[in-house]
Amino acid sequence: MDLLENVLRQTEKNGVAIGHFNIADLVLLKAVFASAQELKVPVLVGASEGEREFMGVRQVAALVRSLREEFDFPIFLNADHTHSLEKALEAAKSGFDAIVFDASALPFEENVRQTKEAVQAVKSINPAILVEGEIGDIGTGSEIHEEAPDLAKGLTTPAQAKQYVESTGIDILAPAVGNMHGMLQSMVQGETKKRLDIVRISQIKSAARVPLTLHGGSGTDDEDLRKAIAAGINIVHMNTELRVAWRRGLEEGLNKQPHEVVPYKILPFAVNSVEEVVCSRLRLFSSH
Ligand SMILES: [Zn+2]
Repeated sequence: MDLLENVLRQTEKNGVAIGHFNIADLVLLKAVFASAQELKVPVLVGASEGEREFMGVRQVAALVRSLREEFDFPIFLNADHTHSLEKALEAAKSGFDAIVFDASALPFEENVRQTKEAVQAVKSINPAILVEGEIGDIGTGSEIHEEAPDLAKGLTTPAQAKQYVESTGIDILAPAVGNMHGMLQSMVQGETKKRLDIVRISQIKSAARVPLTLHGGSGTDDEDLRKAIAAGINIVHMNTELRVAWRRGLEEGLNKQPHEVVPYKILPFAVNSVEEVVCSRLRLFSSH
Protein backbone atom coordinates (compact mmCIF):
# COMPACT_ATOMS: atom_id res chain seq x y z
CA MET A 1 0.00 0.00 0.00
CA ASP A 2 1.26 3.45 -0.94
CA LEU A 3 2.32 5.93 1.71
CA LEU A 4 0.39 9.17 2.00
CA GLU A 5 3.45 11.07 0.78
CA ASN A 6 3.43 9.19 -2.54
CA VAL A 7 -0.32 9.61 -2.98
CA LEU A 8 0.07 13.33 -2.34
CA ARG A 9 2.82 13.59 -4.93
CA GLN A 10 0.74 11.68 -7.49
CA THR A 11 -2.37 13.83 -7.01
CA GLU A 12 -0.25 16.98 -7.37
CA LYS A 13 1.12 15.63 -10.64
CA ASN A 14 -2.45 14.97 -11.79
CA GLY A 15 -3.53 18.51 -10.91
CA VAL A 16 -6.14 17.35 -8.38
CA ALA A 17 -6.49 17.59 -4.60
CA ILE A 18 -7.18 15.06 -1.86
CA GLY A 19 -10.40 15.56 0.10
CA HIS A 20 -10.03 15.63 3.90
CA PHE A 21 -13.22 14.92 5.85
CA ASN A 22 -13.56 14.96 9.62
CA ILE A 23 -15.31 12.14 11.39
CA ALA A 24 -16.71 11.81 14.89
CA ASP A 25 -18.51 8.49 14.56
CA LEU A 26 -19.01 5.43 12.37
CA VAL A 27 -21.79 7.15 10.37
CA LEU A 28 -19.34 9.75 9.06
CA LEU A 29 -16.58 7.22 8.43
CA LYS A 30 -18.96 4.95 6.47
CA ALA A 31 -20.13 7.89 4.36
CA VAL A 32 -16.59 9.12 3.61
CA PHE A 33 -15.29 5.66 2.75
CA ALA A 34 -18.29 4.76 0.54
CA SER A 35 -17.89 8.04 -1.36
CA ALA A 36 -14.16 7.56 -1.98
CA GLN A 37 -14.77 3.96 -3.06
CA GLU A 38 -17.52 5.04 -5.44
CA LEU A 39 -15.32 7.69 -7.07
CA LYS A 40 -12.14 5.58 -6.80
CA VAL A 41 -10.09 8.41 -5.31
CA PRO A 42 -7.74 8.45 -2.30
CA VAL A 43 -9.14 10.11 0.78
CA LEU A 44 -8.00 11.57 4.10
CA VAL A 45 -10.05 11.11 7.23
CA GLY A 46 -9.50 13.72 9.91
CA ALA A 47 -10.07 13.62 13.64
CA SER A 48 -9.50 16.72 15.76
CA GLU A 49 -8.58 16.50 19.45
CA GLY A 50 -12.28 16.60 20.41
CA GLU A 51 -13.26 14.04 17.77
CA ARG A 52 -10.40 11.78 18.86
CA GLU A 53 -11.41 12.04 22.48
CA PHE A 54 -14.96 10.97 21.61
CA MET A 55 -13.99 8.02 19.41
CA GLY A 56 -10.79 6.97 21.15
CA VAL A 57 -7.40 7.71 19.55
CA ARG A 58 -6.39 4.10 19.03
CA GLN A 59 -9.94 3.08 18.16
CA VAL A 60 -10.29 5.51 15.24
CA ALA A 61 -6.82 4.48 14.02
CA ALA A 62 -7.86 0.81 14.13
CA LEU A 63 -11.08 1.52 12.19
CA VAL A 64 -9.35 3.40 9.38
CA ARG A 65 -6.53 0.86 9.21
CA SER A 66 -9.04 -1.99 8.95
CA LEU A 67 -10.65 -0.38 5.89
CA ARG A 68 -7.30 0.29 4.25
CA GLU A 69 -6.21 -3.31 4.74
CA GLU A 70 -9.44 -5.14 4.00
CA PHE A 71 -10.17 -3.21 0.80
CA ASP A 72 -6.56 -2.42 -0.16
CA PHE A 73 -7.77 1.17 -0.49
CA PRO A 74 -5.83 4.47 -0.07
CA ILE A 75 -7.69 5.85 2.95
CA PHE A 76 -5.46 7.76 5.39
CA LEU A 77 -5.86 9.23 8.85
CA ASN A 78 -4.90 12.73 10.00
CA ALA A 79 -4.73 14.05 13.58
CA ASP A 80 -6.37 17.40 12.86
CA HIS A 81 -5.56 20.56 14.89
CA THR A 82 -3.29 19.09 17.54
CA HIS A 83 -2.33 21.74 20.06
CA SER A 84 0.21 19.96 22.26
CA LEU A 85 3.28 17.82 21.77
CA GLU A 86 1.76 15.21 24.06
CA LYS A 87 -1.31 14.77 21.83
CA ALA A 88 0.87 14.75 18.69
CA LEU A 89 2.98 11.92 20.10
CA GLU A 90 -0.12 10.01 21.17
CA ALA A 91 -1.43 10.16 17.57
CA ALA A 92 1.98 9.21 16.15
CA LYS A 93 2.19 6.15 18.41
CA SER A 94 -1.38 5.15 17.53
CA GLY A 95 -0.60 4.88 13.82
CA PHE A 96 -1.87 8.14 12.30
CA ASP A 97 -0.49 8.95 8.83
CA ALA A 98 -0.38 12.71 9.30
CA ILE A 99 -0.56 15.25 12.11
CA VAL A 100 -1.61 18.90 11.97
CA PHE A 101 0.42 20.59 14.68
CA ASP A 102 -1.47 23.82 15.28
CA ALA A 103 0.38 26.49 17.24
CA SER A 104 -1.03 29.24 15.00
CA ALA A 105 -2.59 31.13 17.90
CA LEU A 106 0.90 31.78 19.35
CA PRO A 107 3.31 34.53 18.28
CA PHE A 108 5.26 33.58 15.11
CA GLU A 109 8.58 32.81 16.85
CA GLU A 110 6.91 30.60 19.45
CA ASN A 111 4.88 28.87 16.74
CA VAL A 112 8.15 28.12 14.90
CA ARG A 113 9.85 26.82 18.04
CA GLN A 114 7.01 24.48 19.07
CA THR A 115 6.31 23.24 15.54
CA LYS A 116 9.98 22.44 14.91
CA GLU A 117 10.09 20.49 18.16
CA ALA A 118 6.92 18.58 17.19
CA VAL A 119 8.29 17.72 13.72
CA GLN A 120 11.46 16.25 15.22
CA ALA A 121 9.64 14.32 17.94
CA VAL A 122 7.02 12.86 15.55
CA LYS A 123 9.63 11.87 12.95
CA SER A 124 11.65 10.09 15.62
CA ILE A 125 8.64 7.83 16.20
CA ASN A 126 7.92 7.29 12.50
CA PRO A 127 9.64 9.31 9.75
CA ALA A 128 6.81 8.49 7.31
CA ILE A 129 4.26 10.54 9.27
CA LEU A 130 3.63 13.87 7.55
CA VAL A 131 3.55 16.91 9.82
CA GLU A 132 1.53 19.98 8.85
CA GLY A 133 2.07 23.41 10.38
CA GLU A 134 -0.18 26.44 10.35
CA ILE A 135 0.38 30.19 10.25
CA GLY A 136 -2.18 32.94 10.10
CA ASP A 137 -5.70 33.21 11.46
CA ILE A 138 -8.52 31.09 10.03
CA GLY A 139 -10.79 31.17 13.08
CA THR A 140 -11.78 28.20 15.20
CA GLY A 141 -14.73 25.80 15.47
CA SER A 142 -16.27 23.81 12.61
CA GLU A 143 -19.78 24.90 13.51
CA ILE A 144 -22.36 27.53 12.60
CA HIS A 145 -21.15 31.01 13.57
CA GLU A 146 -23.42 33.99 14.27
CA GLU A 147 -20.97 36.55 12.96
CA ALA A 148 -18.10 36.52 10.48
CA PRO A 149 -14.76 36.92 12.29
CA ASP A 150 -12.37 39.57 10.96
CA LEU A 151 -9.60 37.47 9.47
CA ALA A 152 -8.17 40.05 7.05
CA LYS A 153 -5.22 40.90 9.30
CA GLY A 154 -4.31 37.25 9.80
CA LEU A 155 -3.69 36.36 6.14
CA THR A 156 -0.43 34.48 5.50
CA THR A 157 2.27 36.30 3.53
CA PRO A 158 4.57 34.44 1.08
CA ALA A 159 7.70 35.59 2.97
CA GLN A 160 6.31 34.30 6.27
CA ALA A 161 5.36 31.01 4.63
CA LYS A 162 8.87 30.50 3.27
CA GLN A 163 10.53 31.34 6.59
CA TYR A 164 8.12 29.11 8.52
CA VAL A 165 8.61 26.07 6.27
CA GLU A 166 12.39 26.44 6.23
CA SER A 167 12.78 26.92 9.96
CA THR A 168 10.36 24.19 11.11
CA GLY A 169 10.92 21.38 8.58
CA ILE A 170 7.17 20.77 8.16
CA ASP A 171 6.00 18.60 5.25
CA ILE A 172 2.75 20.48 4.59
CA LEU A 173 1.69 24.08 5.17
CA ALA A 174 -1.80 25.33 6.09
CA PRO A 175 -2.00 29.02 5.12
CA ALA A 176 -4.70 31.62 5.75
CA VAL A 177 -5.90 32.68 2.29
CA GLY A 178 -9.47 33.82 2.86
CA ASN A 179 -10.56 30.47 4.27
CA MET A 180 -12.30 30.15 7.62
CA HIS A 181 -13.38 27.38 9.98
CA GLY A 182 -17.11 26.88 10.34
CA MET A 183 -19.94 28.45 8.35
CA LEU A 184 -22.26 31.40 8.72
CA GLN A 185 -25.99 30.69 8.71
CA SER A 186 -26.24 32.39 5.30
CA MET A 187 -23.67 29.89 3.97
CA VAL A 188 -25.67 26.95 5.32
CA GLN A 189 -28.69 28.35 3.39
CA GLY A 190 -26.47 28.69 0.31
CA GLU A 191 -27.04 32.46 0.15
CA THR A 192 -23.39 33.45 0.60
CA LYS A 193 -20.06 31.76 -0.17
CA LYS A 194 -16.52 32.03 1.13
CA ARG A 195 -14.13 33.53 -1.40
CA LEU A 196 -10.40 32.73 -1.60
CA ASP A 197 -7.34 34.84 -2.40
CA ILE A 198 -6.10 32.84 -5.40
CA VAL A 199 -3.13 35.12 -6.17
CA ARG A 200 -1.93 34.77 -2.59
CA ILE A 201 -2.15 30.96 -2.86
CA SER A 202 0.07 30.99 -6.00
CA GLN A 203 2.59 33.29 -4.32
CA ILE A 204 2.69 31.18 -1.14
CA LYS A 205 3.12 28.02 -3.22
CA SER A 206 6.11 29.46 -5.11
CA ALA A 207 7.69 30.72 -1.89
CA ALA A 208 7.02 27.71 0.36
CA ARG A 209 7.50 24.88 -2.17
CA VAL A 210 5.62 22.30 -0.08
CA PRO A 211 2.14 20.79 -0.37
CA LEU A 212 -0.58 23.18 0.85
CA THR A 213 -3.76 22.43 2.78
CA LEU A 214 -6.90 24.53 2.67
CA HIS A 215 -8.69 24.35 6.02
CA GLY A 216 -12.29 25.43 6.54
CA GLY A 217 -13.41 24.56 3.01
CA SER A 218 -17.11 24.27 3.89
CA GLY A 219 -19.28 26.85 2.15
CA THR A 220 -16.56 27.92 -0.30
CA ASP A 221 -17.45 28.97 -3.82
CA ASP A 222 -16.95 26.00 -6.19
CA GLU A 223 -15.06 27.99 -8.80
CA ASP A 224 -12.71 29.39 -6.12
CA LEU A 225 -12.00 25.84 -4.94
CA ARG A 226 -11.13 24.77 -8.49
CA LYS A 227 -8.84 27.77 -8.95
CA ALA A 228 -7.25 27.23 -5.51
CA ILE A 229 -6.36 23.64 -6.46
CA ALA A 230 -4.91 24.83 -9.78
CA ALA A 231 -2.89 27.44 -7.83
CA GLY A 232 -1.30 24.86 -5.54
CA ILE A 233 -3.73 23.59 -2.88
CA ASN A 234 -3.21 19.82 -2.44
CA ILE A 235 -5.58 18.94 0.42
CA VAL A 236 -9.02 20.46 1.08
CA HIS A 237 -10.64 20.14 4.53
CA MET A 238 -14.41 19.81 4.89
CA ASN A 239 -16.13 19.39 8.21
CA THR A 240 -19.08 21.71 8.85
CA GLU A 241 -20.90 20.75 5.63
CA LEU A 242 -20.73 17.12 6.75
CA ARG A 243 -21.97 17.98 10.24
CA VAL A 244 -24.95 19.86 8.81
CA ALA A 245 -25.76 16.88 6.55
CA TRP A 246 -25.29 14.45 9.47
CA ARG A 247 -27.87 16.31 11.55
CA ARG A 248 -30.36 16.68 8.69
CA GLY A 249 -30.09 12.97 7.85
CA LEU A 250 -30.51 11.95 11.45
CA GLU A 251 -33.60 14.14 11.82
CA GLU A 252 -35.04 12.63 8.64
CA GLY A 253 -34.44 9.10 9.92
CA LEU A 254 -36.17 9.92 13.20
CA ASN A 255 -39.07 11.90 11.72
CA LYS A 256 -39.90 9.31 9.07
CA GLN A 257 -39.97 6.50 11.66
CA PRO A 258 -41.32 8.04 14.85
CA HIS A 259 -41.53 4.67 16.65
CA GLU A 260 -38.30 3.13 15.40
CA VAL A 261 -35.57 2.35 17.95
CA VAL A 262 -33.21 0.18 15.87
CA PRO A 263 -30.06 2.25 15.25
CA TYR A 264 -29.18 0.52 11.99
CA LYS A 265 -32.59 1.45 10.59
CA ILE A 266 -32.31 5.12 11.64
CA LEU A 267 -28.65 5.90 11.02
CA PRO A 268 -28.49 4.98 7.30
CA PHE A 269 -30.42 8.21 6.63
CA ALA A 270 -27.51 10.12 8.12
CA VAL A 271 -24.97 8.05 6.17
CA ASN A 272 -26.78 8.78 2.89
CA SER A 273 -27.12 12.47 3.66
CA VAL A 274 -23.38 12.84 4.45
CA GLU A 275 -22.42 10.69 1.46
CA GLU A 276 -24.17 13.08 -0.91
CA VAL A 277 -22.05 15.98 0.35
CA VAL A 278 -18.78 14.03 0.32
CA CYS A 279 -19.38 12.66 -3.19
CA SER A 280 -20.10 16.07 -4.63
CA ARG A 281 -17.02 17.60 -2.96
CA LEU A 282 -14.76 14.72 -4.04
CA ARG A 283 -16.00 15.11 -7.61
CA LEU A 284 -15.02 18.78 -7.53
CA PHE A 285 -11.57 18.16 -5.98
CA SER A 286 -10.70 15.38 -8.42
CA SER A 287 -11.83 17.12 -11.60
CA HIS A 288 -9.38 19.21 -13.59
ZN1 LIG B 1 -8.88 23.06 10.20
